[in-house]
Amino acid sequence: MTERVWPEVYKKLGVSPIINAQSWVTALGGSIMGPEVRQAMDDAANAFIDIKKLNLAAGEVVARSCGAERGLVTAGCSAAQVLMVAACMTGQSEENVEQLPDTTGMKNEVIIFKGQRNRYDKAFVTAGGTLVEYGEPGSVTSDDLEAAINENTACVAFVVAPFIDHGIGLEETIRVAHEHDVPVIVDAAAEVPPRSNLSKFHKMGADMVAFSGGKGIGGPQSAGVLAGKADLMEAVVMNSLNLDSSVAGIGRPMKVSKENIVGMVTALQLFTDSDEAAEWAGWQSKAEFVAERLAGIDGLRVVIEDDPAERQGPQPVLYFEDDFDGPSIADIKQQLEDGDPGIYVGGGGSREEINIVMVNVQDGEEIIIADRLNEILRS
Ligand SMILES: *Cc1c(COP(=O)(O)O)cnc(C)c1O
Repeated sequence: MTERVWPEVYKKLGVSPIINAQSWVTALGGSIMGPEVRQAMDDAANAFIDIKKLNLAAGEVVARSCGAERGLVTAGCSAAQVLMVAACMTGQSEENVEQLPDTTGMKNEVIIFKGQRNRYDKAFVTAGGTLVEYGEPGSVTSDDLEAAINENTACVAFVVAPFIDHGIGLEETIRVAHEHDVPVIVDAAAEVPPRSNLSKFHKMGADMVAFSGGKGIGGPQSAGVLAGKADLMEAVVMNSLNLDSSVAGIGRPMKVSKENIVGMVTALQLFTDSDEAAEWAGWQSKAEFVAERLAGIDGLRVVIEDDPAERQGPQPVLYFEDDFDGPSIADIKQQLEDGDPGIYVGGGGSREEINIVMVNVQDGEEIIIADRLNEILRS
């Protein structure tokens, strides 16, 4: 078994590390930054720089990586959501930027398909806009979107995420919105890897696209990557620190430190240069290891699933048949979390399954996971 390290900084606070088999969720610490990223942040912490110049230079790396006209490192995907909507409402008007969150005189409606409402969409209204829903899940059409667009429409928001209904789809959404000169902004927080998604939605014609920095990219947990069309991105920059004005933008509380800016671009460059197939193979072999160790339990069906629309990487999914006479899903999860170390897996709630997401499982932890599941499921 691997020797688990309890970092002194957490020990002092009495908080013990856990095994994260639930993916890049904020609740469990996002991702783990590689040594090069941590070193880059340490180096960045040791000098003063002109933040405006640093933002411009980092933005160029982001733009290149995303195949977009202009980029910016933000304080996470949620912060990027706030800034995207702000930019669509204010344009490049200094007066409008200073006036937010009061949107009087500005277009302030953010259109979203009803089936895409989610726990992160508060960020779309933080700058002062309002969400306007369109379409019913299961029967939504392009006409529904068309009917929702009016002279107050600031933008159409689209969310790409596992388990989210894509309605008429991003390409069709862009087609309809652009026919009415309305920009489309995309929350694609957890959609990388695959690395090709960094540029995919831009290629489709999306006006701005936001990713979390601290999920699949492996950057600082409170950083993000935003890129898009030059004119809207200029408005984004105005709404962020707004360093050239006496009034800071609505994004001022979401400032990004020099350490996070440097950590983010370093992680992004490492991510785009790294071997996607090798990363996948590592997850696959951990998934196979756990699946094999759980073979032969009555009433338990273990399937390795990797459908990118639903799953973040290959993962063993545990389905419990009628003849399974062990503990409930909730009980199993509780026992895993209560152990030492605590193990956090996915599933439960509305999903009648346990899934063991390997993207954040460190080498050797798959053995601990398999051992503990065996103890619980075979007892
Ligand atoms: C994680 C997530 C966010 C928030 O991203 P942060 O980088 O944590 O701010 C927004 N939307 C979706 C769909 C997410 O999964």
